[in-house]
Amino acid sequence: MKNLLGGKGANLAEMSSIGVPVPPGFTITTEVCTEYNQVGPEKAVELIREEVEASIAEMEKIMGASFGSNENPLLVSVRSGARVSMPGMMDTVLNLGMNDEAVEGLTAKTGNARFAWDSYRRFVQMYGDVVLGMKPASKDEIDPFEKIMDAVKEEKGYVLDTEFTVEDLKELVTKFKKAVKEETSKDFPVDPWEQLWGAVMAVFDSWNNDRAKYYRRINKIPEEWGTAVNVQAMVFGNMGKNSATGVAFTRDAATGEDIFNGEYLVDAQGEDVVAGVRTPQQITLEGSRRWAKLQGISEDERAAKYPSLEEIMPEIYKELDRVQQKLEDHYRDMQDLEFTIQEGKLWMLQTRNGKRTGAAMVRIAVEMLEQGLIDEKEAIARQEPNKLDELLHPVFVQEELETTETVSKGLPASPGAATGQIVFFADEANKYENTILARIETSPEDLEGMNVANGILTARGGMTSHAAVVARGMGKCCVSGAGSIVIDYKKRTLTAGDVTFKEGDWISLNGSTGEVYKDAVKTKDPELSGDFAKIMELADKLATMAVRTNADTPHDAQKAREFGAKGIGLCRTEHMFFGEAKIKAMREMILSEDEKGRRKALDKLLPLQREDFEGIFTAMKDLPVTVRLLDPPLHEFVPHEIKQQEELAKEMGISVKKIQDKIESLYEMNPMLGHRGCRLGNTYPEITEMQSRAIIEAALNLKEKGIVAKPEIMIPLVGTLAEMKMQEEIVRKTVEAVFAERNDRIDYLVGTMIETPRAALTANEIAESAEFFSFGTNDLTQMTFGYSRDDSGKFLPIYLQKGILKNDPFQVLDQAGVGQLVEMGTKKGRQTNPNLKVGICGEHGGEPSSVEFCHRVGMNYVSCSPFRVPIARLAAAQASIK
Ligand code: ADP
Ligand code: MG
Ligand code: MG
Repeated sequence: MKNLLGGKGANLAEMSSIGVPVPPGFTITTEVCTEYNQVGPEKAVELIREEVEASIAEMEKIMGASFGSNENPLLVSVRSGARVSMPGMMDTVLNLGMNDEAVEGLTAKTGNARFAWDSYRRFVQMYGDVVLGMKPASKDEIDPFEKIMDAVKEEKGYVLDTEFTVEDLKELVTKFKKAVKEETSKDFPVDPWEQLWGAVMAVFDSWNNDRAKYYRRINKIPEEWGTAVNVQAMVFGNMGKNSATGVAFTRDAATGEDIFNGEYLVDAQGEDVVAGVRTPQQITLEGSRRWAKLQGISEDERAAKYPSLEEIMPEIYKELDRVQQKLEDHYRDMQDLEFTIQEGKLWMLQTRNGKRTGAAMVRIAVEMLEQGLIDEKEAIARQEPNKLDELLHPVFVQEELETTETVSKGLPASPGAATGQIVFFADEANKYENTILARIETSPEDLEGMNVANGILTARGGMTSHAAVVARGMGKCCVSGAGSIVIDYKKRTLTAGDVTFKEGDWISLNGSTGEVYKDAVKTKDPELSGDFAKIMELADKLATMAVRTNADTPHDAQKAREFGAKGIGLCRTEHMFFGEAKIKAMREMILSEDEKGRRKALDKLLPLQREDFEGIFTAMKDLPVTVRLLDPPLHEFVPHEIKQQEELAKEMGISVKKIQDKIESLYEMNPMLGHRGCRLGNTYPEITEMQSRAIIEAALNLKEKGIVAKPEIMIPLVGTLAEMKMQEEIVRKTVEAVFAERNDRIDYLVGTMIETPRAALTANEIAESAEFFSFGTNDLTQMTFGYSRDDSGKFLPIYLQKGILKNDPFQVLDQAGVGQLVEMGTKKGRQTNPNLKVGICGEHGGEPSSVEFCHRVGMNYVSCSPFRVPIARLAAAQASIK
């Protein structure tokens, strides 16, 4: 029904059929809009003229009124409404059918000239704006009608619209019409039929206004859907003290609490409540008291000045309460309602499933499940995985935000709320207890500092910049690319507009909106228990695919476990090398002349790595941990600053020149495709030996303490079976040697990452030597598209804007291309080894549509950063009930 009638039209029809009072009307279908877009207005009108005329005649009969009549005029609203709600994006015209005769008729019928002329004034204004295109001339100018109203107000010394007299309103109507004539060189249409067709076409046109187009683009709503048009008899909330209009929710849209709530205004029409011209009042007495408390208004003042609907119209309130319950029970979801009270009679004008926060989404589903309104599958299906994100990070205390100053805005790179004292250098991130690291941009060397800081702010870089990706991985709040800030490393200042911050000044970041605030704003921890835990439990019950995490430290591993990870799918050993002692030994290894020198340095690294593994295995006890052997190009580890080079030279007993020469020799034209991955282990087998030994010795040490470690050793960047085989042999030989030395053994696996197209194409061969595959979709995407992720900032944003790409393939798995390789690799691998364990460990492992794809191709697990684990668990459950 919604496809044809639009959401609004379908729900109006449905409300009416279940006995809820709805003003009579009819709906022109979305198909007509599509037709209109193709054949143009004249033909579209011909198509529906007869039916529309018959429907209006029917409405006239029901209402006992007639279109354009000077005794008893029928007035209608012409309302847009697409399949899914696009709030405020398209247009609506109220009070249509008004002209100089109808206004007299309405005055005579109601005995209320002020009301009649107020309605007329509103109609000319809305029709002028929506149908005749009377818009502000430029973006810093105000609406032409508002301008006229302001002038009259000033002349008469009025403050509020409600002060206009009947004579003033008449004058406004005349002036409005004159402005229309001047602007469009046409008279304002007096014939109701002309008005009606004009409004219908304008609503169709509003489907293609810029706002609506943009909204469709970001919400991925197809262009071809079109909007329906609802023509409905007007009911009036502006007929005096006994009339009102309002908006209500059947549950709290912010918290999810099962409490009826909403706002209303006496003697008002349509959108006055939302527009904020007057302070709206609360519908329920309880809501009104809560509101007054927040506002610091005494009970006496509240009751006198801002009474609830429950107090002033108790009978109507009771009816409204019955209707809201009926609608919620009928739709089995939280409803967002519009209603109008005309002279003591309640009319419902709209109902739809209400938009809500992540917290409300979870709570409402859990409570509706408990209340027996929905079943388990429905409760899971109703969760938007990405919205869970809001629940996983510390949040600002809302009331605090209302009094803080926003100094800049960047990209909401990683959600959350962070407050701290500004530092400009990663190695000073622990200078204060709470810090915000502010950088022009970040680099891998800043990792430790980023980890220490509460939040990260960068002046440059996008959503896939280093800072953004790393911060999301850490679940750390980050605002990136705040272009309006200027950072001066020398002076240690950050300037945003006319505010200058020094090192140590307090600042706050809102990673969910990209806002940067002055001073410290209070935050609170998210709630992960209660309803959230219930939803997660349910998700695990319904999912068939496991969720692991990408974690390189015991801390991350622990966090991920709390979030429900069933193991580690990717532990990157290189991050371990950035610690103070390790980086020195690592550099010594890299800069050594020969194998002997390398082995000497590796001997220093062995105990350090072993200790790291013990930490991670302990945190993940009883669960599998996939450890990837060294992967990045070696030059990423060498010192580029002269001071560090000198230090290293001294330590190694060689000249600075020698160090510099070696660094020079490590330079690569294209490091991403250079000496990295298993190419390191195959050219320098001693690295693989050391790492395998560290892993297995750690596991055996823990076994003595009664802790079960389940290591899975993963060879990176394999392209041929021979490459894999050579690494596998080194690993197994080393492991067997350790087993012999210790006279003990454990279970372990050897497998590979599938991240080159050739590996996917020859997966049947590679599976001969691998016990598991983990699709490394970051590199696989780079190599399949031939895009360097690090350089994609130059063209990806433009590609997305121009629609060449629908999504950033580094965020959303490209199912049509890269996905083929994943599917083929999985199939071919299992042809050789039916027990092959298959998973994914790229950024995509935490992205809902990609998780669904992984489920479809039959993966055993997905792996993602700790903070994405709950989202992936939910996505896995949704995939399995689809
Ligand atoms: P939107 O989709 O932007 O909310 P609507 O079509 O719902 O636009 O209408 C805008 C406002 O006008 C709403 O407050 C609605 O309740 C009110 N309205 C629409 N049709 C009527 C009507 N027939 N009688 C009284 N008020 C109406
Ligand atoms: Mg309720
Ligand atoms: Mg509406």
